[in-house]
Amino acid sequence: NTAAPAQNDDQVERSLVLVKPDGYRRGLTGEVLSRIEAKGYRLAALSVVEATPEQLAAHYAEHEGKPFYEPLVEFMSSGPLVAAVIEGHGCITGFRTIAGTTDPTTAAPGSIRGDLARDWGLTVQQNIVHGSDSPESAAREIAIWFPNGL
Ligand code: GDP
Ligand code: MG
Repeated sequence: NTAAPAQNDDQVERSLVLVKPDGYRRGLTGEVLSRIEAKGYRLAALSVVEATPEQLAAHYAEHEGKPFYEPLVEFMSSGPLVAAVIEGHGCITGFRTIAGTTDPTTAAPGSIRGDLARDWGLTVQQNIVHGSDSPESAAREIAIWFPNGL
């Protein structure tokens, strides 16, 4: 994108984004990637995958034992998903802001979840996207979804 300003590539921040199986199934991958690029973040890696049980156990380790954990893993195994690494200063918080809050019913209009997701009366919130919540999570999650590096 020649219109984008030059970015300081030293210590550029990266985040792990997933288009969850609901987003993929509904044909919203392009819409999500479009919003990421329109915001100005770069795609550093992109892959369509079927998550393995090991990947999901590692990815959602912090939620093990919670009531929504088993339905969450089942949902995340229900079809292909898209894993992406995005980069740009502030992209961890920036992506979570354009994603919107976890519950799609109350996620702000203008956000991915607020505009494109809803409550379907299921036992897990199907909210289209995941985004890392800290630099530590991002590094851990990038290694889970891109084990061979970028
Ligand atoms: P996120 O960081 O906004 O994705 O939210 P969390 O890390 O707290 O939760 C991971 C995922 O589990 C969410 O994106 C939802 O798909 C699901 N989830 C989280 N909290 C709940 C909940 O209270 N109820 C249900 N049904 N699903 C939830
Ligand atoms: Mg989370």
